[in-house]
Amino acid sequence: MKYLSTRGDQTLRGFSDILLEGLAPDGGLYLPTHYPKVDAATLARWRGLSYAELAFEILSLYIDDIPAADLKRLVHATYTEAVFGSAAITPLKTLEPGLQLQALSNGPTLAFKDMAMQLLGHLFEYELARRGEALNILGATSGDTGSAAEYAMRGKKGIKVFMLSPHGRMSPFQQAQMFSLQDANIHNIAVEGVFDDCQDIVKAVSNDLAFKRRWKIGTVNSINWARLLAQVIYYFAGYFQATKSNDEVVSFTVPSGNFGNVCAGHVARSMGLPIRRLVVATNENDVLDEFFRTGAYRVRASAETHETSSPSMDISKASNFERFVFDLLGRDGATVARLFGEQVPRQGGFTLDAATMQRARADFGFASGRSTHADRLETIRKCWQQHATLIDTHTADGLKVAWEQREPGVPMIVLETALPAKFAATILEATGVNPEPPAALRHLESLPRRFAVMAPQVAPVRAYIEQHA
Ligand SMILES: *Cc1c(COP(=O)(O)O)cnc(C)c1O
Repeated sequence: MKYLSTRGDQTLRGFSDILLEGLAPDGGLYLPTHYPKVDAATLARWRGLSYAELAFEILSLYIDDIPAADLKRLVHATYTEAVFGSAAITPLKTLEPGLQLQALSNGPTLAFKDMAMQLLGHLFEYELARRGEALNILGATSGDTGSAAEYAMRGKKGIKVFMLSPHGRMSPFQQAQMFSLQDANIHNIAVEGVFDDCQDIVKAVSNDLAFKRRWKIGTVNSINWARLLAQVIYYFAGYFQATKSNDEVVSFTVPSGNFGNVCAGHVARSMGLPIRRLVVATNENDVLDEFFRTGAYRVRASAETHETSSPSMDISKASNFERFVFDLLGRDGATVARLFGEQVPRQGGFTLDAATMQRARADFGFASGRSTHADRLETIRKCWQQHATLIDTHTADGLKVAWEQREPGVPMIVLETALPAKFAATILEATGVNPEPPAALRHLESLPRRFAVMAPQVAPVRAYIEQHA
């Protein structure tokens, strides 16, 4: 399999070439030249596989420059019961007939980003060793991504992580989770400022190309193709658990922010997995819901981006969305370059015509909905009262929209993207119940912490990297 850019650059690259990269040189995102079709016989064979075996089969269709035995070893080291808490890895939980939650949040940081990031840790370590290189991962986080990256990269050879977070602003659980890591290759930098200050510092450091090259600075952002690919696996795993035969169809509802999770569903559907609908659920930051309803993609300014109780979906633009638009427009790289390279930066967005939006629904299966803080409280309460199940705020956005959009006779799977303990305050507000983290993590808040506090300036961060890289 080879990879190309969504903005028209047809240079063909192998998986290993793009694994450690961010954007393509023309500013686009990498996608495979095509989505391999999975025929009925293959689907029937896959039904009986374990999660790690299924992961190996799917990844093998997209990765041909890592020897099969090595890839098999890496996926079997990643998807274990010890790391993800159950043999099924992403088990389904039935709420009512035809409506199930798929648990994606039983990894080390209790959010679905572990599903991909854990694999990325193994792939990065393998590829860097093969090249005899090292990498310093620099990032900014408001919570979920940074902790998932740290737990994936801790103890990995050839990799160091420098993660900036706003001092005192993450949830107590998130701070305990990140700052209690004692691994020598993990560096937490608490910046005396807000998340945007952290991100500005990361940008300033990364834009200094000489510094970046000298200190081998890299990222693990959500546009990384390997992250998206790893997420394709659980759509297959969810489908097999929800059905008895491959004639059946299911729909998925996906709590969405940067469009990475649901874009993986789009890839699975394009491979021939019998998915009827992919329902995009947003919170008050409804860029994506607006697009699927109206065809208008309107990027929000920071002042227009709401701080909500499902904070991991508080985005102003959806960084993975360009991949879907590329497919929707028949893989027309020139048009995508014009839309995302010119119209988005200059006019703040674009509008697609009604016929194209009709195809997004009819041919690509997309639907959408949105949810508010009041909806979240109501949904969390209802799910607790009717099903004795506590869900987190992001999953609640999904369940609210799933209840609205499910169709008779079509099983609906809602992706559970975090555990309630991660966002305890809102769960308590909704139900009066304080959700406990899993037993193994209850001691986290009392562990010693290791982090550096820094002024919101570029110079001290650079100096820290020079000292510790
Ligand atoms: C990141 C995240 C999301 C949004 O996923 P995208 O891939 O950005 O659409 C939803 N819920 C939780 C808990 C997350 O951490």
